[in-house]
Amino acid sequence: MPLTKPIPLNTGTAIPAVGLGTWQSSANATRDAVNHALRHGYRHIDTALNYGNEREVGEGIRASGVPREEIWVTTKLDNHWHHRVREGLESSLRDLGLEYLDLYLVHFPCSTDPEDRSKHLSDWDFVKTWQEMQKLLETGKVKNIGVSNFQISHLEKLLNDPSCTVVPAVNQIELHPYNPSPKLLAYCASKGIHCTAYSCLGGHSDSPINGHTNLLQDPIVLRIAEQKQKSPAQIILMWNLRRGVSVIPKSVTPSRIENNFDLDGWTLSDEEFAAISAITTRSKVVGDAWMPVRVFLGDDE
Ligand code: NDP
Repeated sequence: MPLTKPIPLNTGTAIPAVGLGTWQSSANATRDAVNHALRHGYRHIDTALNYGNEREVGEGIRASGVPREEIWVTTKLDNHWHHRVREGLESSLRDLGLEYLDLYLVHFPCSTDPEDRSKHLSDWDFVKTWQEMQKLLETGKVKNIGVSNFQISHLEKLLNDPSCTVVPAVNQIELHPYNPSPKLLAYCASKGIHCTAYSCLGGHSDSPINGHTNLLQDPIVLRIAEQKQKSPAQIILMWNLRRGVSVIPKSVTPSRIENNFDLDGWTLSDEEFAAISAITTRSKVVGDAWMPVRVFLGDDE
């Protein structure tokens, strides 16, 4: 069974296992990357209100000619929109030029005050945000709802609240061999929450915002890539797919977009998978210093 097969969610639908990430892709690059990816066979695009490129994602989708119903589109509610969930959704739909989303995520468990982004909203938290997210399912404009960057304690708080009637379909989290998060992954599996891996290649080498993990130069990854005549990126993506998570590698480079999707017809042996899983280097791409509350609590190892 190819690991690239769509992965079932707790809602009865299935998410395409490999998608295109678009964080820090510039406007023109986003349009071209989305168009190229869809023409090459991708059927899953990941964006966010926060990325400022939803408009170009929509343009890329339309330029590809691929019918809307064949594409899985995920976007995310920004932190300073938590008390305006419906407006956040309408803004994303308008910019994307779409009638509905396949997946709408709460980007972070942090409800930031739009008037002063150094402050948390005084009368709000992500449990209230989730109450508003649940209502969106009745509108038909959102097929599935989920969360992102939720740690075990956030999920416990959410799931134990009596107002939580819908278990998140997805938790999109940072997952790669330098940040494997086994406890969080196991916790999500025990609750029927699928995990999507972001920064699944270890992030951007030239990012002005976040450090690069150097994962693509890891000696074990390089050795296995050489032995299998695959790229280091493919090896890391396959490692994530073997853990049952979906992946959303970002690239604006046509040859890399194609390479990252070439994951059928081969896999990692048990020994290769174990060797990558045994890597002990730890490094994270996304931090929380820019938010008014701590999000990454270190309870995922
Ligand atoms: P990735 O781990 O996907 O790495 C992207 C970097 O790797 C880019 O510099 C890209 O370069 C390069 N790259 C891509 N493919 C290859 C390849 N085959 N060989 C060598 N280098 C390659 O980084 P992201 O942090 O962007 O994560 C992926 C996606 O996850 C995001 O784009 C976003 O959609 C999502 N995300 C979600 C977050 C959340 O909070 N929910 C947080 C972070 C990311 P180039 O583009 O120049 O080809």
